[in-house]
Amino acid sequence: MKFTKSIAILLLGMVVVACSTNPFTGKQTLALVPNSQILPMAFQQYNEFLSEHKVVNNTADARMVKSVGQKIATAAERYLNANGYAGYLKDYRWEYNLVQSPDINAWCMPGGKIVVYTGILPITSNEAGLAAVMGHEVAHALANHGQQRMSAAQLQQLGAVAGNIALAGDAENQQIFNTAYGLGSNLGVMLPFSRSHETEADRIGLTLMAIAGYDPAAAAQLWQRMQAQENGAPLEFLSTHPASSTRIQNIQAWVPEAKAEARKFGVTSFKR
Ligand SMILES: [Zn+2]
Repeated sequence: MKFTKSIAILLLGMVVVACSTNPFTGKQTLALVPNSQILPMAFQQYNEFLSEHKVVNNTADARMVKSVGQKIATAAERYLNANGYAGYLKDYRWEYNLVQSPDINAWCMPGGKIVVYTGILPITSNEAGLAAVMGHEVAHALANHGQQRMSAAQLQQLGAVAGNIALAGDAENQQIFNTAYGLGSNLGVMLPFSRSHETEADRIGLTLMAIAGYDPAAAAQLWQRMQAQENGAPLEFLSTHPASSTRIQNIQAWVPEAKAEARKFGVTSFKR
């Protein structure tokens, strides 16, 4: 009895210590694996991914991915600096790459490592649509959603008793990492972000794209186009990002607040 109690107190302590604050919502979130461990792993996995895929360079599309990515990154930095989180992105090493793949997919790893697949470009359709996707994915990274999924998966796997969670060279943890960050190519092993994470990323993403100078209403149009794709074969992005009518309605309702936020940064015209 006494033993159980002390274990419980120990675990509680661990969880409290392992919490971090989401700078956009002020909410405390679970983070069993610190960024000091996650970022080096993310950078390594990113380089591995790039070496195994065909990176598109020097095309108009590749340049657009880099240019939109840079604008979203700058928007994130401006927002965080203005809200008392200067330094939040100090360990970020932003990178934006377009890879040749028919998959309809895009993701951002912790540390700002972004991949856009050529297969998603017909649906993003234009720069503002691409900004909506990239804003959303960057929002997941900034809010440490992958880290929370990873923590949850580890709690499950390790039975919540391991005090030291080492990542390097551990195949099982690497699997958890890939699953948590959406890199798994097999749909069966991809974990969808929870609905609350999706909602949070949509809302933060709208703010980022608006500060970057894009009309947040373009995000609603993007999800309408996604919805139109849903009748076809299952798609990577849609399997983790259902394009529901609720999602589209929420986005439409948040457009004014995203624009109002952008105006605080002197942004008054929004590219459609
Ligand atoms: Zn998402």
